[in-house]
Amino acid sequence: MKSHQAVEYGKPLELIETATPEPQGSEVLVRVEACGVCHSDVHLWEGSFDLGGGNRLDVTRGRTLPFTFGHEIVGEVVALGPDAQGATPGERRVVYPWIGCGACATCSSGEEHLCPASQALGVGRAGGYADHVVVPDARYLFDAGDVPVGLAGTYACSGVTAYSALRKAESRATGRQLLIIGAGGVGMAGLAIAREIIDAEIWVADIDPQKLDAAREAGADHVVDTRDAEAVKSVMKGTGGGAAAAVDFVGAESSAAFGWNTLARGGKLVIVGLFGGSFSAPLPFFPIKSVTVQGSYVGSPGEMGELMELVRSGRIPPIPVETRPIADVTRTLEDLRAGRIVGRVAVRP
Ligand SMILES: [Zn+2]
Ligand SMILES: [Zn+2]
Repeated sequence: MKSHQAVEYGKPLELIETATPEPQGSEVLVRVEACGVCHSDVHLWEGSFDLGGGNRLDVTRGRTLPFTFGHEIVGEVVALGPDAQGATPGERRVVYPWIGCGACATCSSGEEHLCPASQALGVGRAGGYADHVVVPDARYLFDAGDVPVGLAGTYACSGVTAYSALRKAESRATGRQLLIIGAGGVGMAGLAIAREIIDAEIWVADIDPQKLDAAREAGADHVVDTRDAEAVKSVMKGTGGGAAAAVDFVGAESSAAFGWNTLARGGKLVIVGLFGGSFSAPLPFFPIKSVTVQGSYVGSPGEMGELMELVRSGRIPPIPVETRPIADVTRTLEDLRAGRIVGRVAVRP
């Protein structure tokens, strides 16, 4: 099989040819039809995340190079290990990549994506920038319905990320207000999902009037331009004391601050974007306002199943996805890093 592997952090990926693996035990071999190129791949490829204040988080540990990144994988089941059950050759499946050890208390509770010994595809074990990928078990494979292959892979990452963050905001937002911060690709997917699963008045905040127009067209009840000096005041006034729940799809200092400043008493701020920076808030406000600030990282296998059911029902509008040949994967990472990509790109072997 052919893989595009990182041989050195930040350097162009190299095409490496190896024997196509034979699935062992419960493993399933999937022929990759498309793999999304994600902003987190840029950080993994560079080897670090920006933490703000000049600090960086090293993300090279537990991985030896050369390594195959890529975690937004869609493909065809081609071979099964002797103990594999629940998949049939010829089926097209979205691969859930956030795989844990399967043995610890976290994994047993269904939160494999939070496993301290994560074996995530394209992060801890070989991913989808290749023509084949080995998936440890068929339970990580989800029916993509008739969703186009380039789009389907995004549900394994941005889709389940948005879904899980919204589920965390759901109980607080229901019957009250939900504020979505950031109307980029993930935020817009979040808006569509929120309209399906949460009965709340939906506010969308962004710095870009065009994105706010798009959000209004996509069903936001209210939009707010955060560059407006009166933005915080308008949310506080319009919601009658602040938003009951907010999901920050940007994860920048300014967006988190906006969510914090517009949060109602008893409210919950869910931070899910990974832009970078740091967050600080006066401690007395936690008890006085009785607020919760919660992080959300990707989503669980159970949430992936729920999301794919919604997707197959056709109730989640597609986000635009451009496909490119897999030979362009390094160029795509560079384009993403430089901010030259609008929407998502998937590469196809
Ligand atoms: Zn991703
Ligand atoms: Zn585990």
